[in-house]
Amino acid sequence: MLDKLHEECGVFGIYDNDGLDVILSAYHGLYSLQHRGQESCGMAVNDDGLITGYKDTGLVNEVFTKEVLASMGSGKMAIGHCRYSTTGNQNRINAQPLIIRHVKGPMALAHNGNLTNAAELREELEMTGAIFHTTSDTEVIAYTITKERLISHSIEDAVCAAMNKIKGAYSLVIMSPKKLIAVRDPLGFRPLCMGKIKNSYVFASESCALDSIGAQFVRDIEPGEIVVIDENGPRSIKTHCGCEKSSLCVFEFIYFARPDSVVDGSCVHIARQRAGSFLALEHPVQADVVIGVPDSGLDAALGYAKQSGIPYGVGFIKNKYIGRTFIQPGQTQRENAVRIKLNTVRSTVEGKRVVLIDDSIVRGTTSARIVKLLRESGATEVHMRLSAPPFRYPCYFGTDIDSSENLIAYKHSLEEMRQMIGVDSLGFLSVESAKKIAGNSKCGFCAGCFTGEYPIEVPSTQKKSKFEKKISESND
Ligand code: SF4
Repeated sequence: MLDKLHEECGVFGIYDNDGLDVILSAYHGLYSLQHRGQESCGMAVNDDGLITGYKDTGLVNEVFTKEVLASMGSGKMAIGHCRYSTTGNQNRINAQPLIIRHVKGPMALAHNGNLTNAAELREELEMTGAIFHTTSDTEVIAYTITKERLISHSIEDAVCAAMNKIKGAYSLVIMSPKKLIAVRDPLGFRPLCMGKIKNSYVFASESCALDSIGAQFVRDIEPGEIVVIDENGPRSIKTHCGCEKSSLCVFEFIYFARPDSVVDGSCVHIARQRAGSFLALEHPVQADVVIGVPDSGLDAALGYAKQSGIPYGVGFIKNKYIGRTFIQPGQTQRENAVRIKLNTVRSTVEGKRVVLIDDSIVRGTTSARIVKLLRESGATEVHMRLSAPPFRYPCYFGTDIDSSENLIAYKHSLEEMRQMIGVDSLGFLSVESAKKIAGNSKCGFCAGCFTGEYPIEVPSTQKKSKFEKKISESND
């Protein structure tokens, strides 16, 4: 695990009624969702009921070269996916969309989230003869829907029935020969929205993907809702809506989502500024300048500066050209890695008392290196403020906090962390304020990794390790 939390995935789907190039639209949509997953990506296209796909490890522009895009032909519908794995390995086989071929018809499926009962369901299915090709929980969803299809009138009925069985976080786009379907779990852990371009319909994890293809935002998919698009237009099924108090991941606003996205009615950029202004109220300090760690600390730094009256400054320049291919230095040169990625603007911090804003601390090692850089550039005091509460517990809903053991705040007191990071003072946003940052939001929030109180039952350690064991066995 790195020193940042990772989101699992981004999903995209388009149903064309205007002669649009659905493959190019999905490509552009995925491009703007790249921040949600950089390990693998894929697309499935539906040409007159025939579903084909292409997926591989790598970034969207690496996987979908001109030649690959040209080879995909054309179609009326397409779905896409970019992935950062939290369940299953990072290999090609777990890339999505999954394409299922079955007597009841083909289906393609892309998933953002994480099931909490995947291990049990998988075991049940395997005991009835199911054979899994991947180690991801997405295949468990695909199997569950396919099984329900045997006794359902339609694919949407099968999806609705499958939702009685699968538990946890799932925002899905599903493509059948004639329909494009968007599904959000009843608690709405992960975002999913709907847009329209001319007479065509689009689904995406975030509204920034709609903007990228010139689609208008229509609305968010409600927690528990199924939206079906076919030749008759969109139709909503709300059997699973309103059953439970919604629990959108609050960290979507703090870090995961792009600041230009609007999630469940709230602008991410404004939510981050609000986090900064709450921080200034909760943890005031006498200082000369407020700076943010690029990128997601910048908005919160603006908010802190506005609220506190301390001037905002640009304290760091981030090297924009560092890609996944950046060769990580050895252990003894780790500090250089931070220097290469991030450089201080000496004139902003030299001789000054600095308020340093970042979004969160996972292990604390990167924070300590950043603070060292500031001191070397002449900062006289460094007061660190975090626009998230301390992470203390694992996440079971689609991020890579898999164990408390990796979390600095689980093992250490505030004073110990302050010393380890090397700052003059340290302050985290409170959980109460974190839940208020998305002021216009129409939903409730999950804050399980901060409080240990989860909105639904989570797997016991025993169950979790059993699933992990099963996965590793299946890789032998
Ligand atoms: S546990 Fe934390 S990271 Fe996971 S969904 Fe809840 S708020 Fe988000």
